[in-house]
Amino acid sequence: MTQQKSQSAVPANSNAILVINCGSSSVKFSLIKPQSGETLLSGLAECLLSNDAIITIKQGGNKKSYKLAAPFDHQSALAVLVAQLQQLHLVKDICAIGHRVVHGGETYSQPTLITEQVAQTIAQLAKLAPLHNPANLIGIKACQQAFKKLPQVAVFDTAFHQSMPEKAFIYGLPYSLYQEHDIRRYGFHGTSHYFVAKQAAKLLNKPLAQCNLISAHLGNGCSVTVIKHGKSVDTSMGMTPGEGVMMGTRCGDLDAGIIFHLVENLGYSINDVDKLVNKESGLLGVSGLSNDCRTLENAMLYENNSQAKLALTVFCYRIAKSIASYSASLTQLDGLIFTGGIGENSTWVRAEIVKQLGLLNFYLDADKNQTTRFGASGNIATKDSRPCWVIATNEEWVIAEQSAQLLTNLAQ
Ligand code: ADP
Repeated sequence: MTQQKSQSAVPANSNAILVINCGSSSVKFSLIKPQSGETLLSGLAECLLSNDAIITIKQGGNKKSYKLAAPFDHQSALAVLVAQLQQLHLVKDICAIGHRVVHGGETYSQPTLITEQVAQTIAQLAKLAPLHNPANLIGIKACQQAFKKLPQVAVFDTAFHQSMPEKAFIYGLPYSLYQEHDIRRYGFHGTSHYFVAKQAAKLLNKPLAQCNLISAHLGNGCSVTVIKHGKSVDTSMGMTPGEGVMMGTRCGDLDAGIIFHLVENLGYSINDVDKLVNKESGLLGVSGLSNDCRTLENAMLYENNSQAKLALTVFCYRIAKSIASYSASLTQLDGLIFTGGIGENSTWVRAEIVKQLGLLNFYLDADKNQTTRFGASGNIATKDSRPCWVIATNEEWVIAEQSAQLLTNLAQ
């Protein structure tokens, strides 16, 4: 993809990137220094398009919330953000806007300067991510309005996985569906897997290109990625984020025959099935209680709730199986990484997963597992085990870093 040079000049003395992650009813934002990762300001606008629309902005130790005015949309949220940035004299520091864009298809394997043509391609790729790409585009358009002079960069969640070989991304379906309709595995959470892999390389004290790793991003959405010589060679999510391990409300891998059974014999519509597998399954569906790992752990440990225990047990077994399956992709393995809200914090989930990975020579140190949480990072394995790190993810920093790097390259 050729990049346009003209829009990319970085204003002198400006040194921060405004990172935007726009959902259908929310905008997450952070103003980040790309080199150090220092966050100057961050926040979240939520409940957009409703009367409850609210924006919360954190700066230093301060946190303030503002109710949004009509029409309660993304533009209203950005208007408040811009006013705050002006009041705090931070606007002059911003050299570009970096957008998280969920689906880049096969077109984008690198951060990309957003031109009219790029925006159109992101819109076309909405056929592969109907919930996410249109929301990302709303954020792009709103930022183009709010920050008319600044370059806008798209960083794609699928990009890191574009290095997957054909054997990993082709479905066992007629090949023509890939050729004619782009039906293949793409993978997601790429920015997070890339960030934690880079951090693991630092801990191993060798270049990322020499590292072989398995990374488990466990949050509300969950995915496992295998990284060979620094590149993603397989990942558990597929054409959509629904494939792979079980998640908060998604079922993950599913026998397609169940869908026919639901539709033909149990009266489900396609919309019902969509809602079932994406919003009502996973930890929530099995437990019947919650999609939230903390709630389930408390119910299991302190209330003896057997459904909560079953949900967490199935969740962990499926993740352990996914990790173990990646021994087919590697001949060497430097270590395993846990990240995401669950991976970074849940002692129980990490222990339950790793106890099923003895054949890969992973064993946890119970004390280190207990103490490495709430933002702490480090190796939680025993001395005899392969390393097993907890690493806090920071997708915003990657987006800031890659946006700044692209603009520097374009200016040269
Ligand atoms: P998202 O995918 O929406 O970014 P997060 O990465 O924030 O989600 O992860 C949310 C999950 O992390 C929830 O299931 C939550 O219960 C879990 N989590 C957060 N803190 C803890 C904790 N202390 N113990 C166990 N699970 C936790």
